[in-house]
Amino acid sequence: MADVEREQLIDPVCGMRMDPEEAPAVLTYGTRSYYFCSDTHKEEFERNPEFYIEKARREEGEQAA
Ligand SMILES: [Zn+2]
Repeated sequence: MADVEREQLIDPVCGMRMDPEEAPAVLTYGTRSYYFCSDTHKEEFERNPEFYIEKARREEGEQAA
């Protein structure tokens, strides 16, 4: 299966799942788009993106069975 870059639908800061069309804040970092429940969490992500990317990656791994 190809390792296609897909959109991240989980707020990496608080872990909230959301529909990308409803996300109030979006940030493109590297090749991916990250969605946030609020501008506050977007700003938090921007302060420490590597930490939250790694966190999101771990949470994805747990959810993908
Ligand atoms: Zn959030």
